[in-house]
Amino acid sequence: IPIKCSVIIVGAGISGIMAAKVLAENGVDDVLILEAADRIGGRIRKEDFGGVTVELGAGWIAGVGGKQPNPVWELARHSDLRTCLSDYSNARYNIYDHSGKIFPSGVAAQSYQKAVESAIQKLRKQESSPDVDASLLAETASAPKTPIELAIDFILHDFEMAEVEPISTYVDFGDREFLVADERGYEHLLYKMAETFLFTTEDGEISDSRLKLNKVVRELQHSRNGVSVKTEDGSVFDAHYVILSVSIGVLQSHLISFLPPLPRWKTEAISNCDIMVYTKVFLKFPHKFWPCGPEKEFFVYAHERRGYYTFWQHMENAYPGSNILVVTLTNGESKRIEAQSDQETLAEAMEVLRNMFGHDIPDAMDILVPRWWNNRFQRGSYSNYPIYTNHQLVGDIKAPVGRIFFTGEHTSEKFSGYVHGGYLSGIDTTKALLEEMRRGKEWKNESQTFR
Ligand code: FAD
Repeated sequence: IPIKCSVIIVGAGISGIMAAKVLAENGVDDVLILEAADRIGGRIRKEDFGGVTVELGAGWIAGVGGKQPNPVWELARHSDLRTCLSDYSNARYNIYDHSGKIFPSGVAAQSYQKAVESAIQKLRKQESSPDVDASLLAETASAPKTPIELAIDFILHDFEMAEVEPISTYVDFGDREFLVADERGYEHLLYKMAETFLFTTEDGEISDSRLKLNKVVRELQHSRNGVSVKTEDGSVFDAHYVILSVSIGVLQSHLISFLPPLPRWKTEAISNCDIMVYTKVFLKFPHKFWPCGPEKEFFVYAHERRGYYTFWQHMENAYPGSNILVVTLTNGESKRIEAQSDQETLAEAMEVLRNMFGHDIPDAMDILVPRWWNNRFQRGSYSNYPIYTNHQLVGDIKAPVGRIFFTGEHTSEKFSGYVHGGYLSGIDTTKALLEEMRRGKEWKNESQTFR
């Protein structure tokens, strides 16, 4: 007979680990964490590539230097995480055309201003008529057409919306961003959090039976009495409550079935949240051929297809002498390259680089293409709410259904899409659950092992 624990947490990304930490701090330690992958971290994930540690998922700590401290930045400082200041606002002055010429800064600045104004105009229209389909408004606004306009549109919308509308991360925590450049990876922060409540060996490995890796949750059977959790390997775990931290992409994908099914308001909210696919492709070279030095960390390729190998970064600031370039693709382009072989992607990227830097540049020695879209435990990179989203939508995505509580970056109204969004949502959800547990104990006099 399965033993019933107080809480099962599904997923050991930052929100799940945070939820377990808050429960432990409140005396609830008969908890199980079921993680589908063979590691903790979720979308915080490092890999060795070209002799250094690269971050396949979250790379930046965004929102630093403001009045309020960003909790993830605080954690990074206390853990001595190595970071470097990153400023991609200069990217717009390093825009290359297909013949390798850099657009004059005046032209770039002017196009940029035009794009910001048109984005603001579009948002104002959306604000005044929220029921009109955003894609119709996009058609009426002056749509970007030329390669430089398309490149700027991409930088603006896929990276820098901050210039168009105030974004809570920058307003609350400050507008600086730090790139994590630590051999232990961004995930070191999760291990630091975990070691406060899970048994951890001297060399930093978690050896605690409350964390179960390779447990793919496939079914949540829930009733007024508790939740029964079935995993792909046929195991069953019972709990009074479940905290579900899987991504919005996983919720949309039906990897997990609910018995009884989730109510309609919940499934509708889940399907109305957009998912951003964001892919960093890493390329290793025998030597560098791109400009380095101040304001050169980021550069842009202007192509007639929007988002075609547009946004580039060299890793010399993070790891001098690493000779690694990173190119970021999003959404349709991400899905396209995920579906082709890495050799095809390499050939495309090399052609773009040769257009920018000439035919004499060396071939890349290695390529790394993360596949967040095709990863069935992720199904995308992060949630993407429209700027003028109605509060009801996030509220419904976050709201518990019976004994199932939802957490994760997608449940954070102010900071969705960010690591600190995941971190803070883990706290929020757990506080709500603790309140419910306390109420339940008083009202129903259940024998539970929490304080
Ligand atoms: P996750 O980390 O996804 O955790 C959920 C966990 O659930 C995962 O470990 C998953 O394996 C597990 N799971 C899924 N299905 C099941 C199942 N059926 N059973 C059991 N377990 C399951 N944020 C920033 O702040 N700065 C950045 O620079 C940044 N860049 C990013 C770049 C990329 C490419 C990506 C992908 C994300 C980026 N983010 C960034 C976003 C940030 O990584 C996320 O917001 C955050 O890590 C999400 O944490 P989470 O706990 O909500 O979800």
